[in-house]
Amino acid sequence: VQIEVVTIGDELLLGFTVDTNAAHLARQLAAQGVAIVRRSTCGDEAHEIAAAVREALDRTGAVITTGGLGPTSDDLTKESIAAIFGRGMHRDESIVENLKERWKKRGWPGDLPVANLQQAMVPDGCEILTNNHGSAPGIWLEDERGRWVAMLPGVPREMRGMLADTLLPRITARLSAGAEAPRVIASRTLRTSGIAESALADKLGPLAKAPFGLSLAYLPGVEGVDLRLTSRGRTAAEAEPVFAQATAAIHELVGHNIYGEGNDDLAALVLDEMRARHITLALAESCTGGLLGARITAIPGSSDVLLGGVVAYANAVKRSMLGVREATLATFGAVSEETAREMALGARERIGADAALSITGVAGPGGATPGKPVGHTCFGVALGGDVHTFTMNLYGDRAEIRERAAQAALFALRRALAKPAS
Ligand code: ATP
Ligand code: MG
Repeated sequence: VQIEVVTIGDELLLGFTVDTNAAHLARQLAAQGVAIVRRSTCGDEAHEIAAAVREALDRTGAVITTGGLGPTSDDLTKESIAAIFGRGMHRDESIVENLKERWKKRGWPGDLPVANLQQAMVPDGCEILTNNHGSAPGIWLEDERGRWVAMLPGVPREMRGMLADTLLPRITARLSAGAEAPRVIASRTLRTSGIAESALADKLGPLAKAPFGLSLAYLPGVEGVDLRLTSRGRTAAEAEPVFAQATAAIHELVGHNIYGEGNDDLAALVLDEMRARHITLALAESCTGGLLGARITAIPGSSDVLLGGVVAYANAVKRSMLGVREATLATFGAVSEETAREMALGARERIGADAALSITGVAGPGGATPGKPVGHTCFGVALGGDVHTFTMNLYGDRAEIRERAAQAALFALRRALAKPAS
C-alpha cells in the first residue's frame, strides 16, 4: 500500500509552524513497512483542502490528513473531504455526549459552547477514530472502491496519540487481512557445512536454479555455504508455503549438510543438543590455538557443557598435557589422524568429560610438508566408546583456515551426536 500525507494549515504554509506531523507520520508508518510516497501541505480554505486531497486520492487511494478538525470556522477539513466522496454531514450524538462530559469534567462554567457542536458534525457513512488525548475526534472515510482518507487532528500530541492508539493498528490490520497485502521481497536461509558450493549445486540438480520459482543464491563463507532462497512478487502469506515446499525438497537432497537456518550458530546448536542430553565436552586444539574454545565460550551458558580445553601447540605439550605418545608423533607426525585421535582421547580422559574434540593442522603460510599442504587439517571426535578421525584440506589464508577448522570440528561433533549411540 502507498499512502500520501496532506497536512492542512495556513500557519504551515506561512512557515510559522514547522510541519512535524508529516515527519512523525512518515517515521511511524515506515516502521510498519508502509511507505509514504508523497506529502503535501495546503491552506485552510475548503477549496484548497478539496484539491489537495482529491489529487492525492487519485494517485494512491490512501490519504492521511492532519489539521482543521477543530471547532472554529477555519476548521473545514471534514466538509471538504465529505464533498469529494459525495457525502453529506450529520451530527453524531455520541460525540456530543462526549464533548459535554469533557466540558463538565474540566469544571468550566456554563454549557458546552455551540461552536463545539461543530466537532460533532461528521461525514455520512464515516467511522470515528476516538481521541483519548483531546476533544476533536478523528475520521475514517472510505468509499465502495476501498479508497480511504483518515483525518487526524493538527495538534501534534493529539495526532500522535490517535495514530498510535487507533490508526496504525487499523492500517496494519488491513494489510494483514490480505485485502491490500503488499507484494514483498522475502528470504529464507539454509546454512550448510562440509560441502562446497559446486557440490551443493550438483546434488540439488534441477533444484539448483529457481526451486519452486524462488531464486537461490549460494553464499560461501568460513562457516560454510549459506543457501538463500528469495521470493519476489508474492505477498508474505503466499511466499510462506512456497518456502516450506522448497526447503523440504532441499532437505531431501542435501539435508545431511544443513545444520540450521537464518542466523543460527552451529556452536550454539551443538551446545543446546549436548546440554539437553547432559553430555560434557573437552577440547584439544593445536593449529586453532583456542579459537574453538572461544567460539563455544562466546555463548552464554556454555559452562553447562564445556569443561575445558588444552591448547597443545608444541609436540612436548601434546605429550605432557594430553598423553600423545612419542612414537605416534615420530611415526605419523603432529598433523595426522593418529595424533588427533590421541589428542581427543587424552583431553577426554584428563579433563574428565563425556566427549572431546581435537584439531591439528597446517594453518600456513609456512609449515607445509610433502603430502601435508597448507590447510591439511586432522580432527578427532571422541563420543561414547568411539573415536572418529578424519582429514580435510581447508583453503584460504591462515585466519580463514583456522575458522574453517573450528567450524568443521563442530560440524563433525554435531554429526556424531546425530548418530544412534553405539
Ligand atoms: P484544534 O482543535 O486545536 O483547532 P485542529 O485539528 O483544527 O485542532 P489545527 O487548528 O490545524 O488543528 O492546528 C492546531 C495546532 O496544531 C496549531 O497550533 C498548529 O500549530 C499545530 N499544528 C497543526 N498542524 C501541524 C503540523 N502539521 N505540524 C506541527 N504542528 C501542527
Ligand atoms: Mg483548528
